[in-house]
Amino acid sequence: MKKLFAAAALVAALLTACTGKSQMEKDLDKMISKMTLEEKIGQMIQIEISKISWQNPEFDFYNVVKMGPEELEALISKYRLGDKYNAQTMCRERDVENWNSLLPFYSLSIDLGTAEGFKLDREKMRQVFGDLHVGSILNMIGNKEASPLELWQKSIAEMEAASMEFNGIPMIYGLDQVHGPTYIVGGTMFPQQIGMAATFNTPLVAELGEMNAYETRAAGVRWCFGPSMDLAVEPTWSRCYETWGEDPYLTSIMAGAYARGLFGPDNDHIDAYHVIPCLKHYMGYGAPHNGIDRTNAVISEADQREKHFEPFRRAALDGIPSVMSNSSAINGEPGVCNTRILTDWLKDECKWDGVIVTDWGDVGELARLFKAANDPKDAIEKSINAGIDMIMVPYDLTYNQLLKELVEEKKVPMSRIDDACRRVLRMKYRAGLFDSEQPEVEYPLFGSAEFASKALQAAIESEVLLKNDGGILPLKPGAKILLCGPNANSMRTLSGGWTLTWQGSKAEHLSDPYNTIYEAFVNRFGKKNVIYEPGVEYDFDAEWQVEKKPQIKKAVARAAQADVIVVCVGENTYAETQGSIKDANLSENQKELVRALAATGKPVVMVLNEGRPRLISDIEPLAGAIVDVLLPSHYGGDALAALLSGDENFSGRLPFTYPAYPNAFTTYNFKVMEDRSTTPGIYNYENHASVQWWFGEGLSYTTFEYGDLSADKETFGAKDVLTFTIDVTNTGSRAGKEAVLLYSSDDVASLMPDNRRLRAFTKIELQPGETKQVSLQIPAEDLAFVGADGKYHLEEGSFTFMCGGKYLKANCSETVIK
Ligand code: BGC
Repeated sequence: MKKLFAAAALVAALLTACTGKSQMEKDLDKMISKMTLEEKIGQMIQIEISKISWQNPEFDFYNVVKMGPEELEALISKYRLGDKYNAQTMCRERDVENWNSLLPFYSLSIDLGTAEGFKLDREKMRQVFGDLHVGSILNMIGNKEASPLELWQKSIAEMEAASMEFNGIPMIYGLDQVHGPTYIVGGTMFPQQIGMAATFNTPLVAELGEMNAYETRAAGVRWCFGPSMDLAVEPTWSRCYETWGEDPYLTSIMAGAYARGLFGPDNDHIDAYHVIPCLKHYMGYGAPHNGIDRTNAVISEADQREKHFEPFRRAALDGIPSVMSNSSAINGEPGVCNTRILTDWLKDECKWDGVIVTDWGDVGELARLFKAANDPKDAIEKSINAGIDMIMVPYDLTYNQLLKELVEEKKVPMSRIDDACRRVLRMKYRAGLFDSEQPEVEYPLFGSAEFASKALQAAIESEVLLKNDGGILPLKPGAKILLCGPNANSMRTLSGGWTLTWQGSKAEHLSDPYNTIYEAFVNRFGKKNVIYEPGVEYDFDAEWQVEKKPQIKKAVARAAQADVIVVCVGENTYAETQGSIKDANLSENQKELVRALAATGKPVVMVLNEGRPRLISDIEPLAGAIVDVLLPSHYGGDALAALLSGDENFSGRLPFTYPAYPNAFTTYNFKVMEDRSTTPGIYNYENHASVQWWFGEGLSYTTFEYGDLSADKETFGAKDVLTFTIDVTNTGSRAGKEAVLLYSSDDVASLMPDNRRLRAFTKIELQPGETKQVSLQIPAEDLAFVGADGKYHLEEGSFTFMCGGKYLKANCSETVIK
């Protein structure tokens, strides 16, 4: 198979060389020349699956929205939807002028209408694919929880056939498969992106991408909304866990490798085991000024370009063919109509021929929420002209007509429609949707033991040891463990949002085959050695932040029987705006639990299971050991038991800076003058934000020693690549993996330099006593910063390079600005 593709690629390359146009572009020319305006516009529209699925007409939105509280209550209880809807609240808040207040009715109408099971509606498909020529469908089927693989396969095949029958062009299905197959039962879930980043293991992350692609294709889906490339520079943001942390370089490399794993080796044609990745959310979405999801970000021009753009820039140059725009705004400019970022930077500068799809309903929001357009039609005009190629509408079926009017009124040029349609068709071409034959392929590795062991390895490498005073860990063999905390016996909290359901809630039954921390502890340490008494529990039937009345005394009472206490605290699951918080602190109940347990005098191991850093500076001294497992998902409990028992060694590192105080958030790459140490005299300038742990921190059961750092050049020019060498020795008594991180800082620059920046890294494994020589490269152009003029500056002068506590200086011999 691979050989066939190689031959096809060679023929295509030869054809391009002779004619200047690839076969793909010629085929697209032909296709587009035969399309009507309506058909072209249809390719630019993406609609949610509920618009083509069967729904009991009795529960049509217009009927449901008129219902009184008793009628609603009866239906909610009949279909057991009480954990999702409250009839009294819905009716109390119902306001026909306010669409937000009607959304629960809309969602309920879908739930009720599909309560008897999911199936597609042929008449609706005729309308959507036939009348509207819609080019893409999205979201989970059934609107409830992950569905069986067979239902996915059958439904996708049915939609593809209907799209061909009614429109003559295959539709492309887009789905969020965030850390494994989010919406497919029995797939292999691995750590969320924040955990993948914590592994600092790029080849491993590429394999996870391959695995996710394989399982996604098993369902028939060819377009995956991910990876996220947002930088988590605002640690309270509810989507931190969907990122690779705060650093642009780490994000570029790891998200890039993961995207490549999803996409496979051939930029112009995926095989039956790969998918088209969609990089999101382009760009600056991860920096909401007030920490609340989908609110304005304030980012300097220089940081936009040098940091937030960087991962997308690299991936675009690498040929990843789709991007999702930012749902929010930067400096007041909404993501969907920012021409400079969408068209100038991404499409023109990078000569990128991919598709930009909006995020969920964002064009509508431009008028409704952002007040940056008069009405939906004005919003469509602004976003399409700015460079959006496909609108994730997702429910409104009038957009096609509005866009057609805009073309007829010459407000959107035909050239833009042709360009957008071509980009979408090109992506479909790359997705293999126009292949004359679709091979019958089996997916025997779906949910296999082979994939599970990869997910377990990732979970092991993602859990970060942050403190281990007096060698509390590994736990002594035979020790009696008191296991407490709301995260100790929950599958859903190990996984977080985007796991089997959007919010990661109400689907615990689908996680039955996997082990919670408690179950994994019982398996590893024996039932007689594990006493489970949570002390604090989440109320899984309520909103995610709600905890039950604490039973701290009960937990404390068991401490006398234990040698060591493991207290698992953190967060319950959430996704997107639902997860916004007002207080970055860990909940007061949980802090109180840790205080009370520590007061027993027994050694305490604190396990943090969280999607973002919740503040713990006041209780940190009470724990002898601290592990942040982040969101390791289905194999995270097993991983923790293996690590705490010492069967495995820790090697994870924090991909973000863990704050200590709410008024002192910072990233490790702060501007150098922010670090003001004490100056002699009457004032104390010790003003730097004190943090709990810096980006890159993480301990091991063994120790590593670094030799001197050397470089192949003392002086370098803009076109040079610097090669650094350093010896790393395992000086402890256990085997271990070590992430070797190379940083640089610009000693003096025309714009205040960043404190330090990660420039290269790798992960190695060393046996006790073993030494390895590590070689890392930095292209000199990576050392450039973006100046106040928006240009990349590499400036003459000295740079300091740091690795494992060793320093080296090298001199740049020229100034290049471009
Ligand atoms: C999220 C995206 C996601 C999209 C489609 C949006 O609400 O912001 O990350 O890809 O929905 O499900």
